[in-house]
Amino acid sequence: MKKRLVYLDNNATTPLDPEVKRVIQESLDLYGNASSMHTPGRNAHKKMEDARSSVARLIHASESEIVFTGCGSESNNAVLNLLFSPEVDLGGRKRFVTSAIEHPSIYELKEMLERRGIEVTLVPVDETGKVRMDAYAQALDSDVALVSIMLANNETGTIQDVGAMTALAKKYGALVHTDAVQAAGKIGIDVRSLGVDYLSLSAHKIYAPKGIGALYVRSGSPFTPFLRGGHQEDGRRAGTYDNLGIMAFGKAAELALEHWEEDAQRMRRLRDMLDLGIREKVGDIHCNGHPEDRLPGTLNVSFYGAEGESILLYLDMEGIAVSTGSACATGSLEPSYVLVNAGLSSDLAHGSIRFSLGRFTTEEDIAYVTAHIPPVIERLRRMSTV
Ligand code: PLP
Repeated sequence: MKKRLVYLDNNATTPLDPEVKRVIQESLDLYGNASSMHTPGRNAHKKMEDARSSVARLIHASESEIVFTGCGSESNNAVLNLLFSPEVDLGGRKRFVTSAIEHPSIYELKEMLERRGIEVTLVPVDETGKVRMDAYAQALDSDVALVSIMLANNETGTIQDVGAMTALAKKYGALVHTDAVQAAGKIGIDVRSLGVDYLSLSAHKIYAPKGIGALYVRSGSPFTPFLRGGHQEDGRRAGTYDNLGIMAFGKAAELALEHWEEDAQRMRRLRDMLDLGIREKVGDIHCNGHPEDRLPGTLNVSFYGAEGESILLYLDMEGIAVSTGSACATGSLEPSYVLVNAGLSSDLAHGSIRFSLGRFTTEEDIAYVTAHIPPVIERLRRMSTV
């Protein structure tokens, strides 16, 4: 089999869509500051507003509810910032409820929030990565200021029932945020039916460049800027407009809305082919995440007796790009907290590989990966026995 490059790390980031590339090319001559009143400024402003409409349409919001940010992490941070902003009246509420499997841009802020007097509750998840509804319901009371539950998880792809969780939180008058960075472009998103106050997006997960994100702020929900100074974004986020990033994001959102159903169907079929291929040819594996309520292109597998980072490096030598649940932090291999908090043993979490398919994944790619995994796992298992 001829060597090829197979990119199965689309949850980490996606390549640019050729149509987005074309818009980027166009944007390079659009130098006007979108806040300026002259013609170059007005030309840029028009493009920014068109892009805002496209992003709004993707999630069924209105244009005025979209704030462009520097990335998904900033969108998430900006929402948690509301918990201790003196301008936001939370009626004396001091509690923040979130899950044990959120992205680090939420999860890692726990201690900082606690230092500022916020009581943080991490709601546990079951073995499929679903938030445990009984524990969630118990965590709610009228002292909860904010709830943040991700729509889909980046590692396992498990999708949460954010609509039901929001409805429950609203009974106690809490504000609700969802991190939809991984869900966007892969499943349909309607902010009205979800009922959330805030929703985070990131362009580089939907075939646009890195360094541009958005935050949906429901009309009437409290908000105060995270980045302060200029009056851009209707006073909600300072910083000169990123013409290139915003235009690219707009195009990517337009394409996502047009293609997500077709993309999802194709990715699900290819993902299931890969899943079956690994089960048949490798064996002794454990699939992480929910069997059905899962992003269509995500397959997270733990291989018994093989270590994730070694698998990743051996697959890389074959031209296959994937990611692993173990991250080499400060010299020691830490297993993924997402998998460990879903009850996976540390050994299995260490042996986990995430395959994340994308719009450009082909059947040939899957056949190539299915052919190359068995010898790699066999070799590593032999080495670990030795
Ligand atoms: N939230 C989730 C679920 C993610 O997967 C990511 C990126 O991996 C982020 C937030 C952060 O987005 P960004 O890379 O744009 O900061």
